[in-house]
Amino acid sequence: MDLFLSEEEVAFRDEVRAFLDAELDPGLRRSERLNPCFIAHPSYGLLWQAKLARRGWAVPTWPTEHGGPAWTLTQRYIFDQECERRGEPRFRTQGIKMLAPVLMRYGTPAQKMHYLPRIISGEHVWAQGYSEPGAGSDLAALRTKAVRDGDDYVVNGSKIWASMAHESTHIFSLVRTADTGKKQEGITFLLMALDAPGITIRPIKSICGSHEFNEVFFDNVRVPVGNRVGEENSGWEVTKYLLEFERGGNPAGGMLRAWHGRLLRLASVPGPDGGRAIDDPVFATQFAEIGMDIDANDMIELTAMSKVQAGGNPGAIASSVMKLERSRIRQAISELAAMVVGMDAVRWETSRPLTDLPEAPQIEEERMMASAIYFNSRSQSLLGGSNEIQLEIIARDLLR
Ligand SMILES: Cc1cc2nc3c(=O)[nH]c(=O)nc-3n(C[C@H](O)[C@H](O)[C@H](O)COP(=O)(O)OP(=O)(O)OC[C@H]3O[C@@H](n4cnc5c(N)ncnc54)[C@H](O)[C@@H]3O)c2cc1C
Repeated sequence: MDLFLSEEEVAFRDEVRAFLDAELDPGLRRSERLNPCFIAHPSYGLLWQAKLARRGWAVPTWPTEHGGPAWTLTQRYIFDQECERRGEPRFRTQGIKMLAPVLMRYGTPAQKMHYLPRIISGEHVWAQGYSEPGAGSDLAALRTKAVRDGDDYVVNGSKIWASMAHESTHIFSLVRTADTGKKQEGITFLLMALDAPGITIRPIKSICGSHEFNEVFFDNVRVPVGNRVGEENSGWEVTKYLLEFERGGNPAGGMLRAWHGRLLRLASVPGPDGGRAIDDPVFATQFAEIGMDIDANDMIELTAMSKVQAGGNPGAIASSVMKLERSRIRQAISELAAMVVGMDAVRWETSRPLTDLPEAPQIEEERMMASAIYFNSRSQSLLGGSNEIQLEIIARDLLR
């Protein structure tokens, strides 16, 4: 693997940097600094997405026929690293990252034509309706029911942990369309508008203090049959494909490096006793180890992304390994950051969004965020399938 950039790649990097200098204003960067969640708040994320879309850069991993920029893998890597380093509001939405690859593979021409451009423009923001009470790790146990009635399905049931559903326009959902045979065989993948009559969204506040999750209730919701992706009762295959993209479809190296950089800033200012954490050899060793883990993770990601670039999918095993590594690294960074901030980590801002608070110097705001980010990062080893489940997927393949 050649790790040096060619002249053209350096020129591309400079072009990206110039774009970021011009378009990534301090307000957008501050919104990311004060965001403890995984995805930017849509009020900022959509602004940023619109700027990227105007430049043709909103969907770096999509093929050109659907609006992707036809970048090489190295260009995608450079773009991701530069955006993260500059502190972009991270807004790779569930529509961009998960639903789009599914539509490209399983959607009808009409579905592709209707939905994909609206995902790019931000007109449609998608939530994910998979989990249910009693159907998380054992997702195939889901019970939300869809019964065919003429040209519609009539959906009844509920979903839980639907991230950002309250800020979304649509939800892609798994529903039960048959009770016979293996439970995986009776599942169907449906697209629904969240303003359809019969849908109620109820907030759940997360441990980091933000309103991130929701319960979503379906009461006789009519969904046109044309909103089904794939065949009736074949939703499990579609789901497995989507989960690969959820767990490993986008690079996380730049994001991890940005968090690592934030940790370095926190460790480089003197604490109450006048000492700096970075001068402590134990801290410095832990910090360096995390840096090496990020480098190693980059290599796994680049290998998996090169499969996507060649028209494939990341692969179930690689996706699970990446998911595990991202969780471990993010949690290690956030733990160290909370330790470095010390007693200040006990300080807790209750108001949300945090961008409403009076502006303070960057380092003060980063110190203030340490505990909220620490709490949020606990969820990384659960979301998208818990660590135990990823280990099981890997073990099953290796021990076969
Ligand atoms: C931040 C966040 C965002 C999320 N966003 C969404 C979303 O937008 N849409 C959505 O549909 N869902 C979402 N989820 C839900 C997520 O997919 C589930 O939390 C996850 O699949 C685990 O399911 P569960 O919470 O029901 O836990 P359970 O399945 O009840 O698991 C509880 C514990 O038991 C362990 N366990 C379960 N089965 C096994 C087994 N076979 N072997 C070993 N250990 C096992 C698990 O690893 C876990 O530690 C989100 C979750 C989080 C934390």
